[in-house]
Amino acid sequence: MPGEQTKFLGYALTDPSKWHDLKVIEFKPKTFEPQDVEISITHCGVCGSDVHTLTQGWGESKLPLVVGHEIIGTVTRVGDKVTEFKIGDRVGVGAQRGSCLQCRECKDDYENYCTNSIETYNSQYPDGVVAQGGYSTAIRAHQRFVFPIPDEIESRYAASMMCAGLTVYSPLKTHGAGPSKKVGIMGIGGLGHYAVLWAKAMGAEVYAFTHDESKVEDIKKMGADHVINTGKKDFSKDLTRTLDILLSTRDVFGDSTPLGEYLSMLYVHGRFVTVGIPDVDDTLPPIHSFDLVPNGCLLGGSKIGSKKECLEMLELARSKGVKPWIEELPMREVGKALQNLKDNKVRYRYVVKQDLA
Ligand SMILES: [Zn+2]
Ligand SMILES: [Zn+2]
Repeated sequence: MPGEQTKFLGYALTDPSKWHDLKVIEFKPKTFEPQDVEISITHCGVCGSDVHTLTQGWGESKLPLVVGHEIIGTVTRVGDKVTEFKIGDRVGVGAQRGSCLQCRECKDDYENYCTNSIETYNSQYPDGVVAQGGYSTAIRAHQRFVFPIPDEIESRYAASMMCAGLTVYSPLKTHGAGPSKKVGIMGIGGLGHYAVLWAKAMGAEVYAFTHDESKVEDIKKMGADHVINTGKKDFSKDLTRTLDILLSTRDVFGDSTPLGEYLSMLYVHGRFVTVGIPDVDDTLPPIHSFDLVPNGCLLGGSKIGSKKECLEMLELARSKGVKPWIEELPMREVGKALQNLKDNKVRYRYVVKQDLA
């Protein structure tokens, strides 16, 4: 039912000691404002951020908390000042659902870097309402953070593009992935598999790095030109000074990763960009100036993406027919999906389907 009758139910964390045993709760949605779009959710992708948040790896979360930020659904209500959407449109929401819209970043299409960002879940609106995520019946978001989904892209495929897809599309675009560029992707999970798909669609030569031998055939089918097993000694030697971009999607580092070895594969002014965010106590391995100076390489990060980039990404997916590799489950089995994701058993992204509404 559209509008005021919408019931906001979600699968919530209520006890952090049972992080993937989620209970159905009814929650208070954000206060409906003139620029807001209300969406009846049909699909939601399962992201590593959900696991870090539920397990309290990024610090104590709010309770009860509904996570999930790869949301697809249908518009059921629009505020008076909404110009981009109408009831019935198929749309998506990613990891961010609000920002100040006034600051330099917001005006420069860098709203994903706004210091007053409202994350899709586990954040709080100025009036105190807690933002609850997409393992739920419905969500409200400012129209700036709602994305129109092209007819050619099925909802189950579009879902994980909203966070995983955008998070790797943004740095690939920013740092110039394209024809004649050699792009390395480190860690081929949900984000990494998208990075392979996008980098190929952009026309780059793709080098995929994995320690998991069982993924090699899949990664070749995704289109990678080269698959490198990082478990092999001296794997980087043949690639010294080769890559223009090395994108790391790893969200677990430990202290064994030889970061200097990765940086040695960068060509002059090559860029190492991390998008994965490990738990707070899992810092980047130490590096020395000797790892940065000899090839003049640069080390950086990237945070989700802007609406402008999201629309470009969806157009790339539409025009090139890019499809993610996903497994679908009913939403009530999201706990199983989260556990498998934590155990590294997903090939390559779970998407859960609405079963509460
Ligand atoms: Zn995410
Ligand atoms: Zn801002």
